[in-house]
Amino acid sequence: YQAKARGGGRLTFFDVQLRERVQRHMALEQDLRHAASKDQLWVAYQPVVDLRTERTVAAEALLRWDHPAHGAVSPGEFIPIAEESDLIQHVGAHMLRTATRQFAAERDRLELDLQLNANLSPRQLRDPQLHTVVQHALAAAELPAEALCLEITEEAIMHDPAQATWVLNELRDLGVELAIDDFGTGYSSLAQLQRLPVDTLKIDRSFVSDLGESSDREAIVTSIIAMAHSVALTVVAEGVETARQLDLLAGLGCDKVQGYYLGKPAPFDELPTRNPLLRHR
Ligand code: C2E
Ligand code: CA
Ligand code: CA
Ligand code: CA
Repeated sequence: YQAKARGGGRLTFFDVQLRERVQRHMALEQDLRHAASKDQLWVAYQPVVDLRTERTVAAEALLRWDHPAHGAVSPGEFIPIAEESDLIQHVGAHMLRTATRQFAAERDRLELDLQLNANLSPRQLRDPQLHTVVQHALAAAELPAEALCLEITEEAIMHDPAQATWVLNELRDLGVELAIDDFGTGYSSLAQLQRLPVDTLKIDRSFVSDLGESSDREAIVTSIIAMAHSVALTVVAEGVETARQLDLLAGLGCDKVQGYYLGKPAPFDELPTRNPLLRHR
C-alpha cells in the first residue's frame, strides 16, 4: 500500500488514518497465520440458560486472541479478516478441535449434560471439507454429535438458501444440531424457515437491547417467537443484559436466554453451571 500524496506531497490526516488501518489489517492477517501454533488463541464460553428450569443447558464457544503486541483483539475484528481468505478454514478448524476437546473433558469431569455451541462463518459453510472437519473434531474429542450445536447466521444462509440447505442437511446427518444465529436481520420468511433443517433460532441482540423501551420491538420479538414455535423451533434470545429484558422474554414464551445478565464469556472453569439466575434474586 502506498499512501497517495495529495496537494504537493503532503499526507493528509485521512491518508495517515487510512494507512494505519490498512497496516494494522495486514499485520493482523500475517500474525493470525501463526497465532494458533503460538498458543495465542483460546476459547471463552458463555452460558445459555433454559428459562423453564433456570439451569445452564449450553455454552457458546467464542474465540479469543491474546496478541503479544496489541493485547486482546476482538473476534469482531479478526474473524472478518480471516474470512477474506482461506485463513478462516485454519482458524475455524483449530477452534472446533480445541473447543470440542476441552468441552468433552470438562463435561465428563463435571458430569454435566451441557451442549456446546460453536459458530461457523459463511466461508466455512462453502468449504467442501467442512463435513470432514466437524466429523474429525467430534471423533478426536470423543464428543457425541448431539452434544454439538453449530450456529450459522441468517445472513450466511439466505445468501444462497439452496446451497446452505444442502450443507446443513449434510451436517445434520452427522447428528449435530443446528441453529440460525443473529435472526431477524435477514428477512427470511416462514416458508423458508420451514424448509431449513435447523433446530434453534437465536434472536439477534439488537432486538433484545431495546425491549421494554419500544413497543414495536416487543411486537417483532413476539411474532418471531410465535413464528419459530409454529414450526417447532426452540428460541434463544441473545444479549440479555437486564432483569427487565429477562422478565419480558419469559413472558413472551422465549425458551432460552444468553447475555451478560446470565454470564459473560469466560474461561470454562468460570462457567456458572447451576443456576445463574439465583445470583440475582
Ligand atoms: P455472535 O456469534 O453473535 O456472538 C455473540 C457476541 O455477543 C459475542 O461477542 C458475545 O460476547 C457478545 N455478547 C453476549 N452477550 C452479550 C450482552 O449481553 N451484551 C452485549 N453487548 N454483547 C453480548 P464476541 O465474543 O466479541 O464475538 C463477536 C462475533 O465474532 C460473534 O458474534 C461471532 O460472529 C464471531 N465469532 C466469535 N468466535 C467465533 C468463532 O470461533 N468462529 C466464527 N466463525 N465466528 C466467531
Ligand atoms: Ca453465535
Ligand atoms: Ca449471535
Ligand atoms: Ca452477532
